[in-house]
Amino acid sequence: MEFNKVLDNCKIYEAGKPIELVLREYGIKVEDIIKLASNENPYGTSPQVVKRIQERASSIFMYPDDSMYELKEGLASRFCVESSNIVIGAGSDQILDFCIKAKCNETSKVLMSNTTFAMYEIYAKQTGCTIIKTSDDEHNLEQFLELYKIHKPELIFLCLPNNPLGECLNKKDVYDFLDKIDSNTLVIIDGAYQEYASFKDKNKEIKADDLISKYHNCIYLGTFSKAYALGGMRVGYGIAQKGLIKTLHKLRPPFNITTLSLCAAIEALKDEKFVNDCIDKNFKEMKRYEEYALIKGFSFIESYTNFIIIKFDNMYLSNDIAQSLLEKGLIIRDLSSYGINAIRITIGSDEQNTKVFTLLDEVFNEIKQN
Ligand SMILES: *Cc1c(COP(=O)(O)O)cnc(C)c1O
Repeated sequence: MEFNKVLDNCKIYEAGKPIELVLREYGIKVEDIIKLASNENPYGTSPQVVKRIQERASSIFMYPDDSMYELKEGLASRFCVESSNIVIGAGSDQILDFCIKAKCNETSKVLMSNTTFAMYEIYAKQTGCTIIKTSDDEHNLEQFLELYKIHKPELIFLCLPNNPLGECLNKKDVYDFLDKIDSNTLVIIDGAYQEYASFKDKNKEIKADDLISKYHNCIYLGTFSKAYALGGMRVGYGIAQKGLIKTLHKLRPPFNITTLSLCAAIEALKDEKFVNDCIDKNFKEMKRYEEYALIKGFSFIESYTNFIIIKFDNMYLSNDIAQSLLEKGLIIRDLSSYGINAIRITIGSDEQNTKVFTLLDEVFNEIKQN
């Protein structure tokens, strides 16, 4: 059978390996497996949110509230915008998809950093458009601007902070860049880890209300999957000017969020203390990784997220390290598919991280140096 030709050029997204796979392939007991591969919140979901989901379980025979009134109200007050500035997606992933569909066809161009969130490229390729990347792995706005002037892309992705590398541009530099971008180019500010970045350094903080009032061609994306510990519920949101949001709603399937996802996200917004405590612990634990890397002579990228990159330069191959760790029940992310000899580890809980360092020591002893 023949399919849409653009799909010949599309790759299947490789999610972090699930715990079940390690269980099946290596026979390691579930309680001994540690998954630090998908930047989930290691402290689990707020008990208040879990309780609310349980209370709501009996109402799932009905379709959810498709207006998503309560969640939009909650987000509007959290971000100082109006409900009409908000669109909800099944993860912010789905909003990425809406944005690309809203702007791109096979004649379009999109611009992104060389090493950034894999879904940008995957969704973009589904439209058959041309993908343009900077040569630097980390976001480099000079390169962005240069390529913008040459190609005049329909869409620009800025991942602030960036997954999988963890770096984050300063707000001031982002605004200086946005000042030079034409109003017909849609700029996606992916803030999946903004809660972490703004906690660590106020210079990185992008406030959605301020952003969209200054730049009508920008959309701010957020998610409940990371700091809010709801990865399994699939809730994300986009914040932009009303006209843009209205257009995105044309692309939204009906009931794209489940009843339980809606109630979980609404409740999660009410427990800001839980989120802040998790972020506080995240950066305390991250220091241990930085110290570990320094002692071992590895370099790392200063991270504004809930994960850290450890680079092996010429000492080891990241693929070997990741595989050995997997066989010991520790799932992390190898970046060799990005052409980078490094691993990405989600910062775990105190206890998990202690185990990570032990396993890393074991692996370094076992694997001969490259
Ligand atoms: C996790 C992540 C998202 C979105 O995740 P969803 O679970 O789909 O909300 C978006 N962008 C980046 C950079 C991410 O890391």
